[in-house]
Amino acid sequence: MIKRDFLVIGAGIAGLSYAIKVASKWPKSKIMVLSKEGFDNSNTQYAQGGIAGVLPCSNDQVNKHVEDTMIAGDHKNDKEIVEMVVSEASESIDDLINWGVDFDKNNKGKYDLGLEGGHSKNRVLHHKDFTGKEIQDKLLRQAENLSNIELLHHNFALELINNKSNNRVIGAYIYNAESEKVETVVSKIVFIATGGIGQVYKITTNPNVATGDGIALAYRIGANVEGMELVQFHPTALFGDIGDRAFLISEAVRGAGAILRNENGEAYMEKYDVRKDLAPRDIVARANLNEIRNSTIPYVYLDVTHIQDNGFEKHFPVIFAKCKELGLNLKKDYIPVAPAAHYLCGGISVNKKGKSSLNGMYACGECSSTGLHGTNRLASNSLLEAVVYANQSYKNTLNEFDNIEFEVDVDDFWHPVINKNISLDLPLKELRKKLQWLMSSYMAVEKSDESINTMAKEVEKISSNFEKLIHSKAYTIKSLEFRNLLSISQLIVEHSKERKSNSGVFFNKDL
Ligand SMILES: Cc1cc2nc3c(=O)[nH]c(=O)nc-3n(C[C@H](O)[C@H](O)[C@H](O)COP(=O)(O)OP(=O)(O)OC[C@H]3O[C@@H](n4cnc5c(N)ncnc54)[C@H](O)[C@@H]3O)c2cc1C
Repeated sequence: MIKRDFLVIGAGIAGLSYAIKVASKWPKSKIMVLSKEGFDNSNTQYAQGGIAGVLPCSNDQVNKHVEDTMIAGDHKNDKEIVEMVVSEASESIDDLINWGVDFDKNNKGKYDLGLEGGHSKNRVLHHKDFTGKEIQDKLLRQAENLSNIELLHHNFALELINNKSNNRVIGAYIYNAESEKVETVVSKIVFIATGGIGQVYKITTNPNVATGDGIALAYRIGANVEGMELVQFHPTALFGDIGDRAFLISEAVRGAGAILRNENGEAYMEKYDVRKDLAPRDIVARANLNEIRNSTIPYVYLDVTHIQDNGFEKHFPVIFAKCKELGLNLKKDYIPVAPAAHYLCGGISVNKKGKSSLNGMYACGECSSTGLHGTNRLASNSLLEAVVYANQSYKNTLNEFDNIEFEVDVDDFWHPVINKNISLDLPLKELRKKLQWLMSSYMAVEKSDESINTMAKEVEKISSNFEKLIHSKAYTIKSLEFRNLLSISQLIVEHSKERKSNSGVFFNKDL
């Protein structure tokens, strides 16, 4: 059994920000941070556009950012939380800067603030079009410099361990791919920062690790989970041969003037919203779907031809290079785009201090549900939420840490036995593909009562096939990951059934 003061499950912006804070405050404490694959495989790594925030030096106002967040979220946001997050943006962005994150500046030496859909002002700090990679790299470097942080890659949290008598989470079972052993880790605080769920869908901007593990694990031991029906689809993922992950064409590109066009070259967004191409994502995603349905091609176009002379390649080098690789000449060719699953607005319920409904367990970042986003997240508010809530959780830890004792009586708990040798890989791959295909067919941008009910039956069938497949055989890591994907799909279906009105990203045409 391994004892650590803090067990941080997830090494994206949420997990690393919290780990850095507690490690600096308690130099004698021991902090274990896990990543189930390499550290460069997370949603944070792929964030492009940037982080939203009102800086003291900018010509912007906190109440405008609050208002934009509320409008995007269809006013279903928790206003107190929105005000708190937006007011603390500047302090948290300062933390990132102090940890070495380099945001682009203009030729006057001021931060170059980008504009994105749903924002009434330029307020997005960015590092070209790979802000996430810059944040991931610098936070990782900062964590590596703190000797009390133990950074473990290829370490997979299998199950959480809880003490039912006092409703407390006291650790987790971890599969260490190097030693090929399941380790029991007990800790005073468990911090869940496992990111998104995009991989339940066939077409998603999320990398293969985004399988909702933290939410599934927390749900299995009784944590409150909410808003799972609120899956945001990004309107402009690059259409084409996508592999595991669809390449995103950032909203910042529309902020820089790009125009959506249909098959006939018509700029259609004015038909749908007065904000045209800069309307919030839910509106643009549904508009794109509608245009695709009324055309003979499975995509719409993003026209960037007219902004090529304004430093497009310099501002968006990754997007430019990807398009070039596909043979697109952006001076004359339009970019084919379509909606893709992108972000979960719901997740593990947490209070203002980042605490879940279970004692000793925090949740932060994309796996958490704070009330900030309402029913639709405003662009670039996700990185912000993660870093502000890591700080909120840290502040609350200050109050409680010295009074928490280790609870080590974990003998009674079950954990899966991992067997590396049996080959379930092929049938599992098929089941995963089937689940993703069905979720994309029935539970995407537009749902109906029938599609939700059909999916409910299909998930049951897949679950029972899965149980038969693993029956009498020990689990593999991939099968445990698939079990989490199944739980997440079930939660999305259940919560979709329960929702009785459309709002934000949720649209059931029968309501
Ligand atoms: C393509 C793309 C572009 C985006 N652009 C922006 C943007 O411009 N601005 C913005 O605000 N947001 C953006 N987002 C959203 C934002 O990037 C994410 O919401 C945010 O980075 C999530 O951070 P996180 O720390 O919660 O999770 P992640 O960064 O996803 O990190 C999750 C971590 O958990 C680990 N993990 C998961 N399961 C386990 C397990 N079972 N055991 C051990 N470890 C586990 C993973 O290995 C990983 O280290 C974008 C997302 C994508 C996909």
